[in-house]
Amino acid sequence: MTALAHPHTASPALAAPGDQPTVAIVGASITGPTLALLLHQAGLTNVTVLDASPRLHAQAGGVIGLEHTALDVLDSIGVPQHEFVPFTSERVVAVKVADRREAGRTHTFYPGRSTAWHLINTALLQRFPEGWLRLGSRVHGLTSGPDGRAQLRIADAGPLSADLVVFADGRRSTGRRLLDPDRELRYGGYVAWRGQAPTVPQDLHDYTRIEPYGAGFHLFPIQRRDGSIATDWTLYLNHSEQEFRTLLAADPTRRTYVLPHQITAHAREHVTGHARQLLPATAADIIEATPAWTAAPIVDIAPPERMVYPVGRHAHAVLLGDALAPVRPNTARGANSGIEQATSLAATLRQHLRYGADLPVALEGWQRRALPAVHDALQLGPKLGAALGLGHHPAPA
Ligand SMILES: Cc1cc2nc3c(=O)[nH]c(=O)nc-3n(C[C@H](O)[C@H](O)[C@H](O)COP(=O)(O)OP(=O)(O)OC[C@H]3O[C@@H](n4cnc5c(N)ncnc54)[C@H](O)[C@@H]3O)c2cc1C
Repeated sequence: MTALAHPHTASPALAAPGDQPTVAIVGASITGPTLALLLHQAGLTNVTVLDASPRLHAQAGGVIGLEHTALDVLDSIGVPQHEFVPFTSERVVAVKVADRREAGRTHTFYPGRSTAWHLINTALLQRFPEGWLRLGSRVHGLTSGPDGRAQLRIADAGPLSADLVVFADGRRSTGRRLLDPDRELRYGGYVAWRGQAPTVPQDLHDYTRIEPYGAGFHLFPIQRRDGSIATDWTLYLNHSEQEFRTLLAADPTRRTYVLPHQITAHAREHVTGHARQLLPATAADIIEATPAWTAAPIVDIAPPERMVYPVGRHAHAVLLGDALAPVRPNTARGANSGIEQATSLAATLRQHLRYGADLPVALEGWQRRALPAVHDALQLGPKLGAALGLGHHPAPA
Protein backbone atom coordinates (compact mmCIF):
# COMPACT_ATOMS: atom_id res chain seq x y z
CA MET A 1 0.00 0.00 0.00
CA THR A 2 1.32 3.43 -0.85
CA ALA A 3 0.65 6.46 1.26
CA LEU A 4 -1.43 9.41 0.06
CA ALA A 5 0.15 11.22 -2.88
CA HIS A 6 1.43 14.77 -2.66
CA PRO A 7 -1.10 17.31 -4.07
CA HIS A 8 1.01 18.04 -7.16
CA THR A 9 2.14 14.55 -8.14
CA ALA A 10 -1.10 13.00 -9.46
CA SER A 11 -1.33 12.58 -13.20
CA PRO A 12 -4.51 13.90 -14.85
CA ALA A 13 -6.83 11.13 -16.00
CA LEU A 14 -8.94 12.04 -19.03
CA ALA A 15 -12.39 10.55 -18.97
CA ALA A 16 -14.75 9.81 -21.81
CA PRO A 17 -18.39 10.82 -21.44
CA GLY A 18 -20.26 8.09 -19.63
CA ASP A 19 -17.44 7.05 -17.30
CA GLN A 20 -19.01 6.27 -13.94
CA PRO A 21 -16.71 7.24 -11.07
CA THR A 22 -17.20 5.26 -7.88
CA VAL A 23 -17.86 7.68 -5.02
CA ALA A 24 -17.66 6.97 -1.28
CA ILE A 25 -19.15 9.63 1.00
CA VAL A 26 -18.22 9.53 4.69
CA GLY A 27 -20.94 11.14 6.86
CA ALA A 28 -24.74 10.88 6.55
CA SER A 29 -25.83 14.02 8.40
CA ILE A 30 -26.60 17.01 6.13
CA THR A 31 -23.68 17.66 3.76
CA GLY A 32 -23.11 13.99 2.81
CA PRO A 33 -26.75 13.06 2.04
CA THR A 34 -27.30 16.30 0.09
CA LEU A 35 -24.31 15.45 -2.09
CA ALA A 36 -25.53 11.85 -2.51
CA LEU A 37 -28.93 12.99 -3.81
CA LEU A 38 -27.34 15.57 -6.11
CA LEU A 39 -25.10 12.83 -7.54
CA HIS A 40 -28.11 10.54 -7.98
CA GLN A 41 -29.84 13.32 -9.89
CA ALA A 42 -26.70 13.80 -12.01
CA GLY A 43 -26.86 10.15 -13.05
CA LEU A 44 -24.09 8.64 -10.89
CA THR A 45 -24.88 5.09 -9.92
CA ASN A 46 -21.89 3.89 -7.87
CA VAL A 47 -22.27 5.86 -4.65
CA THR A 48 -21.97 4.60 -1.06
CA VAL A 49 -22.64 6.76 1.99
CA LEU A 50 -21.07 5.55 5.24
CA ASP A 51 -21.79 6.74 8.75
CA ALA A 52 -20.21 5.65 11.99
CA SER A 53 -23.47 5.85 13.96
CA PRO A 54 -25.73 2.81 13.85
CA ARG A 55 -28.64 5.23 14.43
CA LEU A 56 -28.22 8.83 13.34
CA HIS A 57 -28.68 11.59 15.89
CA ALA A 58 -27.99 15.31 15.82
CA GLN A 59 -24.29 16.02 16.20
CA ALA A 60 -24.80 19.72 16.08
CA GLY A 61 -28.22 20.60 17.21
CA GLY A 62 -31.88 21.23 16.81
CA VAL A 63 -32.96 24.38 14.99
CA ILE A 64 -30.84 25.29 11.95
CA GLY A 65 -31.32 28.34 9.72
CA LEU A 66 -31.03 27.57 5.99
CA GLU A 67 -30.71 30.38 3.48
CA HIS A 68 -32.87 30.50 0.35
CA THR A 69 -30.03 29.19 -1.84
CA ALA A 70 -29.68 26.05 0.29
CA LEU A 71 -33.47 25.63 0.51
CA ASP A 72 -33.65 25.85 -3.27
CA VAL A 73 -31.00 23.14 -3.66
CA LEU A 74 -33.07 20.82 -1.47
CA ASP A 75 -36.17 21.72 -3.49
CA SER A 76 -34.31 20.88 -6.72
CA ILE A 77 -33.52 17.35 -5.48
CA GLY A 78 -37.17 16.74 -4.64
CA VAL A 79 -37.25 17.71 -0.96
CA PRO A 80 -40.09 20.25 -0.72
CA GLN A 81 -39.84 22.87 2.00
CA HIS A 82 -43.11 21.97 3.75
CA GLU A 83 -41.53 18.65 4.80
CA PHE A 84 -38.82 20.23 6.91
CA VAL A 85 -39.91 23.84 7.59
CA PRO A 86 -42.91 23.61 9.92
CA PHE A 87 -42.64 27.28 11.05
CA THR A 88 -42.19 29.73 8.20
CA SER A 89 -41.32 33.00 9.97
CA GLU A 90 -38.32 34.81 8.44
CA ARG A 91 -38.35 37.50 11.13
CA VAL A 92 -35.58 37.75 13.74
CA VAL A 93 -36.19 39.56 17.01
CA ALA A 94 -33.06 40.73 18.87
CA VAL A 95 -33.70 41.76 22.47
CA LYS A 96 -31.02 43.78 24.26
CA VAL A 97 -30.87 43.10 28.00
CA ALA A 98 -29.36 45.09 30.85
CA ASP A 99 -29.72 44.01 34.50
CA ARG A 100 -31.93 41.14 33.39
CA ARG A 101 -34.49 43.52 31.90
CA GLU A 102 -35.29 44.24 28.28
CA ALA A 103 -33.51 47.39 27.09
CA GLY A 104 -34.94 47.56 23.56
CA ARG A 105 -35.52 45.26 20.62
CA THR A 106 -34.92 45.27 16.88
CA HIS A 107 -36.58 43.33 14.09
CA THR A 108 -34.67 42.10 11.08
CA PHE A 109 -35.24 39.40 8.47
CA TYR A 110 -33.28 36.20 7.87
CA PRO A 111 -32.75 35.46 4.16
CA GLY A 112 -34.05 31.92 4.60
CA ARG A 113 -36.05 29.81 7.05
CA SER A 114 -35.50 27.84 10.21
CA THR A 115 -35.68 24.08 10.14
CA ALA A 116 -34.38 21.33 12.42
CA TRP A 117 -31.55 18.83 12.00
CA HIS A 118 -33.74 15.71 12.33
CA LEU A 119 -36.32 17.02 9.84
CA ILE A 120 -33.74 17.63 7.10
CA ASN A 121 -31.81 14.45 7.85
CA THR A 122 -34.96 12.29 7.68
CA ALA A 123 -36.21 14.00 4.51
CA LEU A 124 -32.86 13.36 2.79
CA LEU A 125 -32.23 9.77 3.90
CA GLN A 126 -35.69 8.51 3.00
CA ARG A 127 -34.99 9.46 -0.64
CA PHE A 128 -31.79 7.41 -0.88
CA PRO A 129 -31.65 4.78 -3.60
CA GLU A 130 -31.68 1.21 -2.29
CA GLY A 131 -28.29 0.07 -0.96
CA TRP A 132 -26.57 3.48 -0.90
CA LEU A 133 -26.52 3.93 2.90
CA ARG A 134 -24.27 1.96 5.27
CA LEU A 135 -24.82 2.90 8.91
CA GLY A 136 -22.56 1.62 11.70
CA SER A 137 -19.51 1.98 9.40
CA ARG A 138 -16.70 3.91 11.08
CA VAL A 139 -13.98 4.96 8.64
CA HIS A 140 -10.51 5.06 10.20
CA GLY A 141 -8.03 5.02 7.35
CA LEU A 142 -7.37 5.91 3.73
CA THR A 143 -4.71 4.37 1.51
CA SER A 144 -4.24 3.77 -2.19
CA GLY A 145 -4.87 0.28 -3.47
CA PRO A 146 -2.78 -1.67 -6.03
CA ASP A 147 -5.13 -0.47 -8.80
CA GLY A 148 -4.32 3.19 -7.97
CA ARG A 149 -7.78 3.83 -6.51
CA ALA A 150 -8.50 5.02 -2.97
CA GLN A 151 -9.21 2.43 -0.30
CA LEU A 152 -11.20 3.36 2.76
CA ARG A 153 -10.51 1.41 5.92
CA ILE A 154 -13.68 0.67 7.84
CA ALA A 155 -13.88 -0.74 11.37
CA ASP A 156 -15.18 -4.33 11.46
CA ALA A 157 -15.55 -4.45 7.66
CA GLY A 158 -13.46 -4.97 4.55
CA PRO A 159 -11.94 -1.99 2.67
CA LEU A 160 -14.01 0.00 0.18
CA SER A 161 -12.43 1.18 -3.11
CA ALA A 162 -13.43 4.44 -4.76
CA ASP A 163 -12.30 6.92 -7.40
CA LEU A 164 -13.48 9.79 -5.23
CA VAL A 165 -13.75 9.80 -1.43
CA VAL A 166 -15.73 12.66 0.08
CA PHE A 167 -15.28 13.31 3.78
CA ALA A 168 -18.38 15.02 5.17
CA ASP A 169 -17.69 13.63 8.63
CA GLY A 170 -18.10 16.71 10.75
CA ARG A 171 -16.10 18.76 13.21
CA ARG A 172 -13.79 15.98 14.39
CA SER A 173 -13.31 14.70 10.87
CA THR A 174 -11.19 11.61 10.38
CA GLY A 175 -10.65 12.78 6.79
CA ARG A 176 -9.15 16.08 7.96
CA ARG A 177 -6.90 14.24 10.43
CA LEU A 178 -5.63 11.99 7.60
CA LEU A 179 -5.33 14.59 4.83
CA ASP A 180 -4.51 17.83 6.64
CA PRO A 181 -3.24 16.80 10.09
CA ASP A 182 -1.68 20.15 11.01
CA ARG A 183 -5.01 21.98 11.07
CA GLU A 184 -6.17 21.18 14.58
CA LEU A 185 -9.27 22.49 16.35
CA ARG A 186 -8.81 25.35 18.84
CA TYR A 187 -11.30 26.09 21.58
CA GLY A 188 -13.08 29.42 20.92
CA GLY A 189 -13.80 30.27 24.58
CA TYR A 190 -17.58 29.70 24.77
CA VAL A 191 -20.13 26.91 24.70
CA ALA A 192 -23.53 26.48 23.04
CA TRP A 193 -25.73 24.80 25.65
CA ARG A 194 -28.88 23.45 24.02
CA GLY A 195 -32.22 21.96 24.97
CA GLN A 196 -35.89 21.64 24.14
CA ALA A 197 -38.33 22.88 26.78
CA PRO A 198 -41.66 21.05 26.80
CA THR A 199 -43.84 24.17 26.49
CA VAL A 200 -43.78 27.09 24.03
CA PRO A 201 -44.31 30.72 25.14
CA GLN A 202 -47.53 32.04 23.57
CA ASP A 203 -45.75 34.94 21.85
CA LEU A 204 -42.88 32.88 20.37
CA HIS A 205 -43.44 33.04 16.59
CA ASP A 206 -40.14 34.50 15.36
CA TYR A 207 -36.51 33.45 15.84
CA THR A 208 -35.68 35.35 19.04
CA ARG A 209 -32.23 36.29 20.38
CA ILE A 210 -31.95 37.64 23.91
CA GLU A 211 -28.53 39.29 24.14
CA PRO A 212 -27.02 40.52 27.37
CA TYR A 213 -23.38 41.44 26.75
CA GLY A 214 -21.27 38.28 27.16
CA ALA A 215 -24.06 35.77 26.49
CA GLY A 216 -26.81 34.92 24.01
CA PHE A 217 -30.09 33.05 24.43
CA HIS A 218 -31.79 31.97 21.19
CA LEU A 219 -35.31 30.53 20.96
CA PHE A 220 -37.56 29.11 18.26
CA PRO A 221 -40.36 26.52 18.19
CA ILE A 222 -39.35 23.05 17.06
CA GLN A 223 -41.44 20.12 15.85
CA ARG A 224 -40.06 17.02 17.53
CA ARG A 225 -39.84 13.52 16.06
CA ASP A 226 -43.10 12.50 17.76
CA GLY A 227 -44.90 15.54 16.24
CA SER A 228 -45.10 17.51 19.51
CA ILE A 229 -44.05 21.17 19.56
CA ALA A 230 -41.36 22.36 21.98
CA THR A 231 -39.14 25.40 22.50
CA ASP A 232 -35.67 24.81 21.08
CA TRP A 233 -33.15 27.00 22.86
CA THR A 234 -29.43 27.67 22.70
CA LEU A 235 -27.54 29.48 25.43
CA TYR A 236 -24.11 30.81 24.45
CA LEU A 237 -21.95 31.30 27.53
CA ASN A 238 -18.27 32.09 28.03
CA HIS A 239 -16.20 29.42 29.79
CA SER A 240 -12.44 29.20 30.08
CA GLU A 241 -10.88 25.95 28.89
CA GLN A 242 -10.17 25.01 32.50
CA GLU A 243 -13.79 25.68 33.44
CA PHE A 244 -14.99 23.46 30.57
CA ARG A 245 -12.72 20.66 31.77
CA THR A 246 -13.99 21.02 35.33
CA LEU A 247 -17.66 21.12 34.30
CA LEU A 248 -17.61 18.30 31.76
CA ALA A 249 -14.42 16.32 32.49
CA ALA A 250 -13.32 16.63 28.86
CA ASP A 251 -11.15 18.58 26.46
CA PRO A 252 -13.35 20.97 24.38
CA THR A 253 -11.47 20.17 21.16
CA ARG A 254 -12.01 16.45 21.64
CA ARG A 255 -15.54 16.29 23.02
CA THR A 256 -17.09 18.62 20.46
CA TYR A 257 -20.60 17.35 21.10
CA VAL A 258 -21.69 16.67 24.67
CA LEU A 259 -24.58 14.20 25.02
CA PRO A 260 -27.33 14.54 27.65
CA HIS A 261 -25.89 11.80 29.88
CA GLN A 262 -22.49 13.59 29.85
CA ILE A 263 -23.93 16.83 31.27
CA THR A 264 -23.10 16.66 34.97
CA ALA A 265 -25.38 17.97 37.74
CA HIS A 266 -22.58 20.41 38.58
CA ALA A 267 -22.56 21.77 35.00
CA ARG A 268 -26.36 22.20 35.04
CA GLU A 269 -26.24 24.03 38.35
CA HIS A 270 -23.37 26.27 37.20
CA VAL A 271 -25.03 27.17 33.88
CA THR A 272 -28.47 27.73 35.40
CA GLY A 273 -26.89 30.03 38.01
CA HIS A 274 -25.27 32.10 35.24
CA ALA A 275 -28.53 32.19 33.29
CA ARG A 276 -30.34 33.54 36.37
CA GLN A 277 -27.73 36.31 36.71
CA LEU A 278 -27.83 37.34 33.04
CA LEU A 279 -31.28 36.68 31.60
CA PRO A 280 -34.83 37.77 32.37
CA ALA A 281 -36.47 35.30 34.79
CA THR A 282 -38.83 33.90 32.11
CA ALA A 283 -35.84 32.95 29.93
CA ALA A 284 -33.95 31.32 32.82
CA ASP A 285 -37.17 29.41 33.70
CA ILE A 286 -37.19 27.86 30.20
CA ILE A 287 -33.66 26.56 30.71
CA GLU A 288 -34.43 25.17 34.14
CA ALA A 289 -37.61 23.44 32.90
CA THR A 290 -35.70 21.47 30.24
CA PRO A 291 -34.97 17.90 31.31
CA ALA A 292 -32.21 16.98 28.82
CA TRP A 293 -29.45 19.27 27.60
CA THR A 294 -26.66 18.90 25.08
CA ALA A 295 -23.66 21.15 24.56
CA ALA A 296 -21.27 22.09 21.76
CA PRO A 297 -18.04 23.91 22.65
CA ILE A 298 -17.33 26.54 20.00
CA VAL A 299 -14.19 25.67 18.06
CA ASP A 300 -12.04 27.51 15.52
CA ILE A 301 -9.62 26.24 12.91
CA ALA A 302 -6.98 27.70 10.59
CA PRO A 303 -8.29 28.43 7.07
CA PRO A 304 -7.78 25.47 4.72
CA GLU A 305 -5.45 25.78 1.73
CA ARG A 306 -6.98 22.82 -0.09
CA MET A 307 -10.23 20.90 -0.37
CA VAL A 308 -9.01 18.28 -2.86
CA TYR A 309 -6.22 15.74 -2.30
CA PRO A 310 -4.93 13.23 -4.83
CA VAL A 311 -4.81 9.67 -3.50
CA GLY A 312 -2.53 7.21 -5.25
CA ARG A 313 -2.33 7.32 -9.07
CA HIS A 314 -5.95 7.93 -10.08
CA ALA A 315 -8.13 8.80 -7.13
CA HIS A 316 -9.00 11.89 -5.09
CA ALA A 317 -10.28 12.72 -1.64
CA VAL A 318 -12.23 15.83 -0.78
CA LEU A 319 -13.14 17.58 2.49
CA LEU A 320 -16.61 19.16 2.72
CA GLY A 321 -18.76 21.00 5.26
CA ASP A 322 -17.69 20.88 8.91
CA ALA A 323 -15.03 18.31 7.96
CA LEU A 324 -13.31 21.00 5.91
CA ALA A 325 -13.77 23.78 8.44
CA PRO A 326 -16.26 24.07 11.28
CA VAL A 327 -17.44 27.68 11.52
CA ARG A 328 -18.95 29.34 14.57
CA PRO A 329 -22.72 28.84 14.86
CA ASN A 330 -23.24 32.63 15.23
CA THR A 331 -22.51 32.85 11.49
CA ALA A 332 -25.35 30.38 10.75
CA ARG A 333 -23.17 29.25 7.83
CA GLY A 334 -22.13 25.65 8.67
CA ALA A 335 -24.95 23.65 7.10
CA ASN A 336 -25.43 26.32 4.42
CA SER A 337 -21.78 26.04 3.38
CA GLY A 338 -21.91 22.25 3.33
CA ILE A 339 -24.95 22.30 1.01
CA GLU A 340 -23.39 24.94 -1.27
CA GLN A 341 -20.10 23.03 -1.51
CA ALA A 342 -21.97 19.78 -2.23
CA THR A 343 -23.91 21.53 -5.01
CA SER A 344 -20.85 22.87 -6.80
CA LEU A 345 -18.97 19.56 -6.35
CA ALA A 346 -21.93 17.70 -7.89
CA ALA A 347 -21.87 20.11 -10.85
CA THR A 348 -18.20 19.26 -11.37
CA LEU A 349 -18.92 15.51 -11.38
CA ARG A 350 -21.88 16.00 -13.71
CA GLN A 351 -19.63 17.75 -16.24
CA HIS A 352 -17.18 14.85 -15.95
CA LEU A 353 -19.87 12.22 -16.42
CA ARG A 354 -21.81 13.91 -19.23
CA TYR A 355 -19.08 15.63 -21.22
CA GLY A 356 -15.84 13.91 -20.17
CA ALA A 357 -14.47 16.96 -18.32
CA ASP A 358 -10.99 16.20 -16.93
CA LEU A 359 -11.79 15.37 -13.32
CA PRO A 360 -8.55 16.48 -11.59
CA VAL A 361 -8.62 19.81 -13.43
CA ALA A 362 -12.33 20.29 -12.74
CA LEU A 363 -11.78 19.52 -9.05
CA GLU A 364 -8.94 22.09 -8.83
CA GLY A 365 -11.25 24.70 -10.41
CA TRP A 366 -14.02 23.84 -7.96
CA GLN A 367 -11.61 24.19 -5.04
CA ARG A 368 -10.37 27.58 -6.26
CA ARG A 369 -13.94 28.92 -6.49
CA ALA A 370 -15.14 27.44 -3.18
CA LEU A 371 -12.25 28.26 -0.82
CA PRO A 372 -12.77 32.06 -0.48
CA ALA A 373 -16.28 31.61 0.96
CA VAL A 374 -14.87 29.22 3.58
CA HIS A 375 -12.19 31.75 4.57
CA ASP A 376 -14.83 34.51 4.85
CA ALA A 377 -17.04 32.44 7.17
CA LEU A 378 -14.05 31.49 9.36
CA GLN A 379 -13.12 35.16 9.75
CA LEU A 380 -16.68 36.28 10.41
CA GLY A 381 -17.26 33.98 13.40
CA PRO A 382 -14.79 35.53 15.87
CA LYS A 383 -15.88 39.05 14.80
CA LEU A 384 -19.54 38.28 15.51
CA GLY A 385 -18.57 36.63 18.80
CA ALA A 386 -16.48 39.64 19.86
CA ALA A 387 -19.34 42.05 19.12
CA LEU A 388 -21.52 40.04 21.53
CA GLY A 389 -18.78 39.71 24.15
CA LEU A 390 -18.40 35.99 23.40
CA GLY A 391 -15.15 34.10 23.06
CA HIS A 392 -11.49 34.75 23.46
CA HIS A 393 -11.48 38.25 21.98
CA PRO A 394 -14.31 40.15 23.63
CA ALA A 395 -14.72 43.75 22.47
CA PRO A 396 -14.48 46.44 25.17
CA ALA A 397 -17.80 46.83 27.01
C1 LIG B 1 -25.59 25.57 18.28
C2 LIG B 1 -25.44 25.39 16.81
C3 LIG B 1 -26.26 26.11 15.94
C4 LIG B 1 -26.08 26.02 14.55
N1 LIG B 1 -26.89 26.74 13.72
C5 LIG B 1 -26.70 26.70 12.37
C6 LIG B 1 -27.52 27.48 11.48
O1 LIG B 1 -28.43 28.20 11.90
N2 LIG B 1 -27.25 27.41 10.13
C7 LIG B 1 -26.25 26.62 9.63
O2 LIG B 1 -26.06 26.61 8.40
N3 LIG B 1 -25.48 25.86 10.45
C8 LIG B 1 -25.68 25.88 11.79
N4 LIG B 1 -24.91 25.11 12.63
C9 LIG B 1 -23.85 24.28 12.04
C10 LIG B 1 -24.41 22.97 11.48
O3 LIG B 1 -25.14 22.25 12.43
C11 LIG B 1 -23.24 22.13 10.99
O4 LIG B 1 -22.43 22.93 10.16
C12 LIG B 1 -23.73 20.94 10.17
O5 LIG B 1 -24.43 20.03 10.99
C13 LIG B 1 -22.55 20.24 9.52
O6 LIG B 1 -23.04 19.19 8.77
P1 LIG B 1 -22.08 18.06 8.22
O7 LIG B 1 -22.99 17.11 7.50
O8 LIG B 1 -20.96 18.71 7.46
O9 LIG B 1 -21.43 17.39 9.51
P2 LIG B 1 -22.09 16.76 10.82
O10 LIG B 1 -23.49 17.24 10.99
O11 LIG B 1 -21.15 17.00 11.93
O12 LIG B 1 -22.15 15.20 10.50
C14 LIG B 1 -21.01 14.41 10.41
C15 LIG B 1 -21.45 12.94 10.27
O13 LIG B 1 -20.27 12.16 10.05
C16 LIG B 1 -20.33 10.99 10.85
N5 LIG B 1 -18.95 10.58 11.12
C17 LIG B 1 -18.03 11.21 11.89
N6 LIG B 1 -16.86 10.55 11.89
C18 LIG B 1 -17.05 9.46 11.09
C19 LIG B 1 -16.20 8.38 10.68
N7 LIG B 1 -14.93 8.29 11.08
N8 LIG B 1 -16.71 7.42 9.87
C20 LIG B 1 -18.01 7.48 9.44
N9 LIG B 1 -18.85 8.49 9.80
C21 LIG B 1 -18.38 9.46 10.61
C22 LIG B 1 -21.10 11.42 12.10
O14 LIG B 1 -21.70 10.30 12.74
C23 LIG B 1 -22.11 12.40 11.53
O15 LIG B 1 -23.33 11.77 11.17
C24 LIG B 1 -25.07 25.18 14.02
C25 LIG B 1 -24.24 24.44 14.89
C26 LIG B 1 -24.42 24.56 16.27
C27 LIG B 1 -23.52 23.78 17.19
